[in-house]
Amino acid sequence: MNNQNYIAAGQQVLMNTYARQPLAIVKGQGCQVWDGDGKQYLDFVAGIAVNSVGHCHPKVVAAIQKQAETLLHCSNLYWIPGQAQVGEILVKATGLDRIFFCNSGAEANEGALKLARKYAKEKGHPERFAVITMEKSFHGRTLATLTATGQVKVQKGYEPLPNGFCYVPYNTMEAIAAAVNETTCAVLLEPVQGEGGVIVPDTAYMQELAAFCKEKDILLILDEVQTGIGRTGKLFAYEHFGICPDILTMAKALGGGAPTGAFMAREEVASVFVPGDHGSTFGGNPLLMAAAKATLETILTEDLSGRAAQTGQYLMAGLKKLQERFPFIKEVRGLGLLIGIECTGAVAPVITACREAGLLIAGAGPNVLRMVPPLIIGETEVDAALAILSDVFAAAEQMHSQAPPGK
Ligand SMILES: *Cc1c(COP(=O)(O)O)cnc(C)c1O
Repeated sequence: MNNQNYIAAGQQVLMNTYARQPLAIVKGQGCQVWDGDGKQYLDFVAGIAVNSVGHCHPKVVAAIQKQAETLLHCSNLYWIPGQAQVGEILVKATGLDRIFFCNSGAEANEGALKLARKYAKEKGHPERFAVITMEKSFHGRTLATLTATGQVKVQKGYEPLPNGFCYVPYNTMEAIAAAVNETTCAVLLEPVQGEGGVIVPDTAYMQELAAFCKEKDILLILDEVQTGIGRTGKLFAYEHFGICPDILTMAKALGGGAPTGAFMAREEVASVFVPGDHGSTFGGNPLLMAAAKATLETILTEDLSGRAAQTGQYLMAGLKKLQERFPFIKEVRGLGLLIGIECTGAVAPVITACREAGLLIAGAGPNVLRMVPPLIIGETEVDAALAILSDVFAAAEQMHSQAPPGK
C-alpha cells in the first residue's frame, strides 16, 4: 500500500468532509511522521496541537499498553480511579474545583454551555440563557457549538440554528458591554483565537472582561481546547492575563493523542449539576485517563510549557527575520508554540511546497500559516523548519518575480 492506494480507498467510502492533503500518515516518532510512500516529515502540525508530547512518547505508550491489558472501558455507572487522578492534577494546576470528562473539544464546550444555562436558572435568573461569543471564533461542530462559532461558513446549511447566541468583535470591551442584556448568562471566548488566524488579545481587554463578568454575575467561559495544556508557554493561556475563568474547557493535547476532553468550573458553578444532568459513555474511560495522566505528568515534570515559551521565542525571532526578507509575510504573531504567519496572499501553495520539502504546517484561514509543533521540539527542529520555509519563500519569489505566491 502507498499514498495513492490509501487515498483511493478513502475516497470510496468516506464522507467528503475534509479538504485533505494528498498523503496518508502511517507512522510517527517524536517530531517526525512518515507517509504511505515512506517519506519523512518534520511535523509542525502535531494533529493540530494534539501531539504536544510528540508522537509515541514512551511514557504515554507504556501507560496505554498497561491500561489496555488491565481494563479498557467501564461505565460511569461506577467510579473510575483515573478520573480522580487526572482531576486532581488539573484542580491543583488551575484553582478550579471540579471537572467533567468527555471526548472532544466540541463536547467540552457543549457541556460548558449547558452548565452555564443551568447555573443561571438555579441562581434565580430563568430569563438568562444567551451567550455572547466572538467573531472568527471556533468552538466545534455540534449544533450548539457551531452556532457559538462566529463564522458563517461552519453554520451554512444547518439552519434553523439553536437560539441564544450573539457575536461581537474580538478584543474590544465596548462591543461586549453593548451586547449584554437581561438574557445574557455567559461570555465564551478563546484566550488566543486559533482557527480565526492566531489572534492574541490585549491583557487589558482580558482583565476588563473578567472584571465585567464578575460585576454582572455573568459567567466567563474560556475555550482552551487549542491553547491549553502548555501550548502557549503556560499550562493554560489565561495565566498570561492574570485572570481565572468560571468555566474552562480543554481537549486537543489533554490525552496526548487519545480523544479526551474536559470542562472545569469553580464549586459554586459546578454544584448546579446533579445526577442525570449530563453524561458521556466514553468520557473519562480508563484508557483515556491513563493516556491523559501520562501526558499531563510528562508536560508538568519536563516543564514542556516553559520549554514551549522558550522555543516559541526562538521560532518567533527566526520568523521575524524571514519577514524582513520576504514582503509576502505581513505579520508574525502568537504565544508560545501557537504561531500564526499572516501573508499577503493565499497560503495553500506555501503549505504544499513545505510539504514537498518535508515540513508539515497548517493554515488558519486562507492567508495565515499556523505552526503548532510538538512542545518537545528544540532549536534543531526550528532551524530545519525555518530553512525549508526560507527556501519555499525564496523559490516562490523568484518564480513570480513580482507577484507573491498564491496569486
Ligand atoms: C479544535 C477546537 C475545538 C473543537 O474540538 P473538537 O475536538 O474537534 O470537537 C473547539 N474549540 C477550539 C478553540 C478548537 O481549537
